[in-house]
Amino acid sequence: MARKIVAGNWKMNLLPDEGYQLIEDLSNFCEGNKLDNVEVVVSPPFIHLAKAAEMTAHSKLTISAQNCSDQLSGAYTGEVSVEMLKAAGVNWTLIGHSERREYYGDTDEFVNGKLKRTIEAEMTPVLCVGEVLEDRKAGKQEEVVASQLKGALAGFSADEVKNMVIAYEPVWAIGTGETASPEQAQEVHAFIRKYLTQTYSAEVANAVSILYGGSVKPENAKEIFGQPDVDGGLIGGASLKYEQFVKLIEIGQ
Ligand code: PEP
Repeated sequence: MARKIVAGNWKMNLLPDEGYQLIEDLSNFCEGNKLDNVEVVVSPPFIHLAKAAEMTAHSKLTISAQNCSDQLSGAYTGEVSVEMLKAAGVNWTLIGHSERREYYGDTDEFVNGKLKRTIEAEMTPVLCVGEVLEDRKAGKQEEVVASQLKGALAGFSADEVKNMVIAYEPVWAIGTGETASPEQAQEVHAFIRKYLTQTYSAEVANAVSILYGGSVKPENAKEIFGQPDVDGGLIGGASLKYEQFVKLIEIGQ
């Protein structure tokens, strides 16, 4: 069965000292509570990562990057490679978040290249997919998600896909306060699981955790996380506040 994961995406928020304080508090929470059924992940900005990984080296809290380069090394100004992340003690990264796709040109081809680097480096990528409002209104969410999965996963073996995490994040629900209903989330999660079964195998489909993301808060998480194909959440805004994120971890476990 897919593992349960509650992951926070800090985006471009929190100055280093604020971030380290939150890491310390979350790390203490994870140590002080029996979190046998959930993996807790946080994705701070690049500049916090090395220290955050050092602080959590012996903790149950996992540190993830928000992005990585599709290139190994060289003349790629502003990029950070998977080898650099690994050297800093970071073994997870988000890939293809909708904000990267919308503002920084992360096409499916780029996403595929980034995924290749993470799998070669034996990291855990969290592949983000999801449709924009226009596609949802046209009932094209499954078509869009299938096309993103096809592009992102091109060339990967079943064993490689098994080591990935997928986050379904409808773009219209990210940072908008608008959440997909539990039924809408379940429908697309079930579709993703079916896609993985048909493209790879039932074993792969059952091994891959599929997280929901989009304005998840303690008030709506119980119903969303309770859906049969929802294996946890990728949380933006509410992961910046200790009390809210801890409640979400408790609900996710
Ligand atoms: C996200 O950034 O992945 C996200 C889901 O954000 P929010 O929870 O703020 O909608």
